[in-house]
Amino acid sequence: MKLVALAGGVGGAKLTDGLAQLLPPENLTIVVNTGDDFEHLGLYISPDLDTVCYTLAGLANPKTGWGRAGETYHLLESLAVLGGETWFRLGDKDLATHLERTRRLHAGETLSHITRLFCRAWGVRHTVLPMSDDSVRTMVETVKYGELSFQEYFVHQRCEPKVKGFRFVGIESARAAPGVLEAIEMADAVVLCPSNPWVSIDPILAVAGIRSALEKKKVVAVSPIIGGKTVKGPAAKMYSELGVRPSALAVAEHYSGLLTGFVMDQLDAKLAEEIPITTMVTDILMPTQDDRRRLAQDVLDLIRTL
Ligand code: GDP
Ligand code: CA
Repeated sequence: MKLVALAGGVGGAKLTDGLAQLLPPENLTIVVNTGDDFEHLGLYISPDLDTVCYTLAGLANPKTGWGRAGETYHLLESLAVLGGETWFRLGDKDLATHLERTRRLHAGETLSHITRLFCRAWGVRHTVLPMSDDSVRTMVETVKYGELSFQEYFVHQRCEPKVKGFRFVGIESARAAPGVLEAIEMADAVVLCPSNPWVSIDPILAVAGIRSALEKKKVVAVSPIIGGKTVKGPAAKMYSELGVRPSALAVAEHYSGLLTGFVMDQLDAKLAEEIPITTMVTDILMPTQDDRRRLAQDVLDLIRTL
């Protein structure tokens, strides 16, 4: 079975890790959100791409889900002494990624090309593509501070400001990265990973051509919300602040018109009857690699029945 998975960072990386354990490289393409990308300390940082790649490479920090295992922070400590900006945690190993990516971007290489080179260097054999090589920047409209850039909201303000909406700057002129639409066209199905629907999956769906390519496919989403809560991050809080009760049902409705199948947790089993598409109820928490593979297998089994 040939699959395309749409992913953000930590939640998306976990399920793609499970899928990568089951599918050969030629049968899985992962399309990653770049709306979180930003420039910091003169470096181009692509948090979701790095989280997915580090996870697939087995280099990710198992405690946080992002950043690298066995990381040190010597540069950040020295920067703090000088009064530099340290609110965005950049480890020494991780910095090498940003330095080399920034150098290559300045030399005119595209983000998708650089991602391919880095994946090869890290031993990632499945295809990882940024959603676009063009700049898309997620802006979070907040009640208290007006519009904030995504990392300003997410990291600096720790997701505390109440949100009113989102804007993806540059989305009108962003083209899907080379290979994205082709991979979707070739796929038997597309999986929307359990990533934040508002700020991880919506930006990908907003890139020209992606949503309409999905409309011709079987599309299965896995809920990032379990028992009304997120495993991590602000997705549930965002639903509440935007006037929607956070639940697996809210996620299914978020993607309505696009889904052929939906995967939700046993804890939410009673909501299944309210969802008008084929729904699988299973254990969707993925703390371990085995859990990731087991859930990925459930997703493949569901797709086969659609
Ligand atoms: P981010 O870019 O790092 O915020 O990552 P994503 O958008 O990909 O993932 C964030 C979402 O992943 C949150 O809404 C979490 O609830 C969800 N998530 C994290 N771990 C798990 C898990 O083990 N199972 C499920 N179903 N969702 C998860
Ligand atoms: Ca992200």
